Amino acid sequence: MTDHEDIGATPFERMESHMEHEDLVCPECGHEDDGGSWQAQTTGSQVLYSHVCPSCGAIRKRTYNLGDE
Ligand SMILES: [Zn+2]
Repeated sequence: MTDHEDIGATPFERMESHMEHEDLVCPECGHEDDGGSWQAQTTGSQVLYSHVCPSCGAIRKRTYNLGDE
């Protein structure tokens, strides 16, 4: 049995793995970007996520404030 639990490294990494499971289904065309992921960028106090739909090119963006939970 493998209890693979590597959560808790950094807030940034936690956010990133959180976003791994975030919807990758495009609200515009319904395409599910199975092999895709949100691109994360941090400014220090915020993490900016963006995802480009490979099917229709729709761009979604999200912003998270670090340490805001
Ligand atoms: Zn799309």
